Amino acid sequence: MSLKSIGSLTPATIAAQAGGLLDAGTGGVVPPIHPATTFVRDEDYIPAVDGNVYSRSHAPNGRMAEGVLAQLEGAAEAMVFPSGMAAVAAVFRTLPAGASVLVQSQIYWGTTAWIRGFCARRDITLVEVEAADTDAFAAACATHKPALAWIETPSNPWLRIVDIAACADAVHGAGGLLIADMTTSTPVLTRALSFGADVVMHSATKGLNGHSDVLAGALAVKDSGSAIWAAIRADRDMAGAVLGPFEAWLLLRGMRTLPLRVERMSENAQKLAEYLSDHPSVETVLYPGLPSHTGHALACTQMTGGFGPLLSFVVKGGAPAALGAVGRLKLFHRATSLGGVESLVEHRHTIEPHTGIPEGLLRLSVGIEGAGDLINDLGQALGQ
Ligand code: PLP
Repeated sequence: MSLKSIGSLTPATIAAQAGGLLDAGTGGVVPPIHPATTFVRDEDYIPAVDGNVYSRSHAPNGRMAEGVLAQLEGAAEAMVFPSGMAAVAAVFRTLPAGASVLVQSQIYWGTTAWIRGFCARRDITLVEVEAADTDAFAAACATHKPALAWIETPSNPWLRIVDIAACADAVHGAGGLLIADMTTSTPVLTRALSFGADVVMHSATKGLNGHSDVLAGALAVKDSGSAIWAAIRADRDMAGAVLGPFEAWLLLRGMRTLPLRVERMSENAQKLAEYLSDHPSVETVLYPGLPSHTGHALACTQMTGGFGPLLSFVVKGGAPAALGAVGRLKLFHRATSLGGVESLVEHRHTIEPHTGIPEGLLRLSVGIEGAGDLINDLGQALGQ
């Protein structure tokens, strides 16, 4: 049964009930895992179950996760991939050699690094632009007429807020498509398709799954009849970047609590951001929920119900002070990634030393623990 038959429902209901999925065979309230790689045909050589032939193209658990994500995004369709980077690559592989693309500067460094290499190999003109500067983005669209433009909001780890609707207008005016990496927002806070993006991308490894136990990626599209969507689907079917059934099942299970988790993480992150802004050892806090953040007003129009789990702050005293504080933290795990239920801390300069990240910057992924416990931990690590 699909919940669609009930009419308009909130994301909390769609997520909690996994879009209405049950185990049809047993009546279980949890859908089963389907490990089969191949599916039988009947005596007339017609697939016994419509649409199921071979799991590179027809993966029941993948389809379940895709159906729920599409509902949460307000998308026509979604596709899941074995990592966020596989989803990034699936988009860029649709570009012909010689095309032009516009990519937001200072986004997740892995995306930037992969795109730079790919574009160089394919003879694709890559223009990197500060997309939070809407005028600069629009000017770059008008000049370069990109086939696609790539944005990320809030950006990781700078927490820049990009005006999705303005960027969509600019790139559409130049004849291209807007792709939005919404990993740090999740559809709970922002549904980028409703602001004009053509395709939304997620590292589902992060908030969508939310338990740091699945590597996955996802794309969601506004127009499932578009040429780019057909090209991505054909590429996934034939090149085989398919999410396994167990991972897809875990992702579906993770998404059941997505609205609840994102709400709590955002509440916690807001409290931590406010605490850190008043702390004498802290130089700057980058969090869109703070009125002092340059993107706050825009974030208020584009994000609903909070500002997400990601926050960065700069410790006074550079790398030694930041690394000293990190070493004293007891609750925050010193680990990369974001969007999980457990709080993480990262000294980004150690990871990406050549990208202009301040040496004192610490990036937090705020989890769902008690906010007071997290504040106490930061307090003892920074020196109260
Ligand atoms: N996009 C963003 C914003 C990310 O933070 C990450 C990973 O950190 C990715 C994409 C890549 O996703 P994955 O690690 O699942 O390949």
